[in-house]
Amino acid sequence: MQPNFSLAGQVVMLTGASQGIGYGLAKALAGAGAKLALCARSLPALEGLAAEIRAAGGEAQPYALDVRDLAQIQSAVQAVQRDFGRIDVLVNNAGLGSNQKAEEVTEAEWDEMMDVNLKGLFFCAQAAGRVMLAQGHGRIINMSSQAGVVGIREHAVYSASKGGVNLLTKVLALEWAARGVTVNAVAPTFIYTPGTAERLDNPDYLRGVLDRLPIGHVGTIADVAAAVIYLASPAGGMVNGTVLLVDGGWTAQ
Ligand code: NAP
Repeated sequence: MQPNFSLAGQVVMLTGASQGIGYGLAKALAGAGAKLALCARSLPALEGLAAEIRAAGGEAQPYALDVRDLAQIQSAVQAVQRDFGRIDVLVNNAGLGSNQKAEEVTEAEWDEMMDVNLKGLFFCAQAAGRVMLAQGHGRIINMSSQAGVVGIREHAVYSASKGGVNLLTKVLALEWAARGVTVNAVAPTFIYTPGTAERLDNPDYLRGVLDRLPIGHVGTIADVAAAVIYLASPAGGMVNGTVLLVDGGWTAQ
């Protein structure tokens, strides 16, 4: 029995596709055969990405979406369903991260990170999940972090949001699996992207990261894409409610 990792013909709605992990992930998903519904606030970036995917022979459409706005989530899900006829996979990747000392966090910073990382993620899962439950099949993959599994200094709000993502993943997995919808999370270690570049380009910060990272180097977008493709593919069909760590062993200690 050969496991099937192909996403041929699968309609994937991907949030946070305009840069970083989402941008590279979109191309990797298209390479695995998926049709992409690309979502983020920066429409020009999504249009450029869609053009790149089409030039490589794939299928992609951009959708403006601020995940803090429930009405926009609803409209984006309806538009994807209208354009593609269904939603097979939702990758809830939009997210914010930054270093903040706990004693300095403001209410506005707390609200923004929670609104994007946790509340927005939940309501995207709810809106796409309703479509999937009606279809009788679907996969939801939430982008978490190792910071949702272990504490990381100066990440109080981020860790709380990603810990919330991990438990939301498990609850949705329990509620929806019998109706054909699996829900999992991918939890990467530090990945070099525009969102982390400023910190990882600082040699002192990078040394602090690598001191705690058994594998000795930060991760790549390809490492994250491999986990997402596995969970979205037929090969990942039995996996439900798991948080798949792609962390080079960070949480093994
Ligand atoms: P990034 O480079 O900062 O990109 C973030 C993405 O999220 C962008 O496409 C951004 O698009 C989108 N986004 C932000 N706010 C949004 C909003 N209100 N509505 C809709 N989209 C929004 O981040 P990244 O490093 O690629 O991270 C992607 C995901 O992986 C996040 O969930 C992050 O927590 C997680 N993660 C990252 C790392 C890492 O080291 N990079 C490690 C573990 C987990 P617009 O600005 O165009 O809206």
